[in-house]
Amino acid sequence: MTFFVRMFLNIRMRRPCLAANWKMNKTIPEALEFVHSFLPSVSGIHDADIVLAPPFTPLFAIAEKLAGTEVKLAAQNVFYEEKGAFTGEVSPVMLRDAGCEYVIVGHSERRQYFHESDEIINRKIKASLKSGLRVIFCIGESLSERETGKTFEVLAGQIRNGLRDVDGEGLIVAYEPVWAIGTGKTATPEQAQEAHSYIRSRLREVFAGRADTIRILYGGSVTPENIDRLMACPDVDGGLVGGASLKSESFERIVKFKRG
Ligand code: PEP
Repeated sequence: MTFFVRMFLNIRMRRPCLAANWKMNKTIPEALEFVHSFLPSVSGIHDADIVLAPPFTPLFAIAEKLAGTEVKLAAQNVFYEEKGAFTGEVSPVMLRDAGCEYVIVGHSERRQYFHESDEIINRKIKASLKSGLRVIFCIGESLSERETGKTFEVLAGQIRNGLRDVDGEGLIVAYEPVWAIGTGKTATPEQAQEAHSYIRSRLREVFAGRADTIRILYGGSVTPENIDRLMACPDVDGGLVGGASLKSESFERIVKFKRG
């Protein structure tokens, strides 16, 4: 079926992906308790990728619990070297070793508090993809950039620099307007669709036809209350969820967003 026929019939072009970014929250027992109640509640879902991104410390313990299920594990950060004298860093190979299939790269909190530049992010993306991790690459504009009409310019720059020499295989993009992260202010479905559609047009320049297979997640105060409207947008292929992913029932409802 061609792209246009699928659009006309309102059939999803891309498999949805819902990812939980727990940030610096949950000890190992707390993480295991979440997994214990979450797994049975989503065992019947086979039409979406469900990803949990805990802090580093619970990764291995959670990986053991996720084995044999369809729920996947992500790290929230990675370093671009394979091994060596880089105190405090964790390599893509180590993340794979701990059971991760995904890694979040370029989150705005890493850009803001840890001064990660597009160049560093680009190195992290290339090293992660090379090791077989799938990458959730975060981009998004600040409030002042939106208010001064620079949203598209910022997104274009982050895509151009972050994805330099990157092959699109294994790549997922997350549009996370910085003004919507952890603020309770969600982009309207119209704002999200406008940005996602723009991002897809830029991805077409980088990856040509493959751009239509790359998923673009929305992130920024996603909740059980707004997920259905966001997922109804044609270019919103899923969500990267922070605060509302910390409680099992809340993330369960998000994963069970209203299908077509
Ligand atoms: C995030 O951390 O990626 C995020 C989108 O957070 P929140 O859902 O809390 O806005």
